Amino acid sequence: MRVVAGAATDVGRVRERNEDAFVARNPLFAVADGMGGHQGGEVASRVALEVLAAGAGEALGAEPSPEGLAEVVGRANAAVLAQAAGDQSLSGMGTTITAAVLTDGRMHLVHVGDSRAYLLRDGRLTRLTEDHTLVQRLVNEGKLTPQEAEIHPHRSVLTRALGVEADVEIDRMSEDVRTGDRILLCSDGLTSMVPEEEITRLLAGHDDPQAAAEALVTAANDAGGVDNITAVVLFVLEGEEAAGGGPRAYVQPASSPVRPAAPPGPRRRGRALAALAAIVIALVAVGVGARAFVYRQWFVGVHEGRVALFQGMPVQVLGVRLNRLVEVTDLSAEEAQRLRPWRDLDEGITAQSEAGARGIIATIERDLQLAQGQETQRPGPSPEDQGGSG
Ligand code: MG
Repeated sequence: MRVVAGAATDVGRVRERNEDAFVARNPLFAVADGMGGHQGGEVASRVALEVLAAGAGEALGAEPSPEGLAEVVGRANAAVLAQAAGDQSLSGMGTTITAAVLTDGRMHLVHVGDSRAYLLRDGRLTRLTEDHTLVQRLVNEGKLTPQEAEIHPHRSVLTRALGVEADVEIDRMSEDVRTGDRILLCSDGLTSMVPEEEITRLLAGHDDPQAAAEALVTAANDAGGVDNITAVVLFVLEGEEAAGGGPRAYVQPASSPVRPAAPPGPRRRGRALAALAAIVIALVAVGVGARAFVYRQWFVGVHEGRVALFQGMPVQVLGVRLNRLVEVTDLSAEEAQRLRPWRDLDEGITAQSEAGARGIIATIERDLQLAQGQETQRPGPSPEDQGGSG
């Protein structure tokens, strides 16, 4: 058995920075999706994977096990916490991690957060990891269907991440792997944009894992590319393992500028208020870490008729707002809501970072300019003359 790997990552079409990172260094493969203000997200995912890559050799040298791998992930958690504690500008940063080691026909997997691992075998795609998100919790409790969870506007709210608390619960598992298996590790920027049927088709439809990884990233961008996208693809083949194989070492992608985005974007359909209330109840149930999670969230909403940036979640519980207003733009919320992608703006469009939320505002602004451009043929008062009180 030998493993051939491919990997691709991209900033997407809305975000200003790529906070994802990956490792593809046979036999260690991992994806991390960082979050946090300023450069926190990039630092968190990079630090976590550096510690993982450094520790994996010794921990896995003799007898690879999920426990050994989890022990290293525990150290990565401590390293992210320590770095955040030592630098005010990195405070509140965190990261997901989904890591696999493949040796001797076994795959050992550890996982925290909402990146995912999939196995494609005999044409069937199986999700190996469970998202540590509030919407997944609601699915487990029967309050949301998996289909509703996939498109839920608040699906990015994590219940577990590295860099939040000293004690992090790490999912761990082992799977047999066989010749012909294909394995995918990916960030939520892929799975929130591309349905699993399409992921199956693209994973199965390429002879080369690098081509498959790039096709998956392209599909996510074609669907709107609202988040950073990372895919690590492994093909399990017959034959001998080449020593030190693997496509490339650990990569921290460079930030790249915002690219023009596709107009339609994803469906940000507002879900029922009942589901939102259930999220709040779940938040309370999460307990200690809940406040940290709430204030790690950002969203774009409406304040006095204008598009505005908020930190927190777009909800109110017993009269207590779980958010604070950060900035009010001069963009008209009413005009934005006339455009299909933004019609649920008043319910709040969530993001995992300030940069992500600002990317959404930039996209709204561009969409408004496009819409106004289409109206310039007919004369009328300038937009400034129509505004309400600020
Ligand atoms: Mg993400």
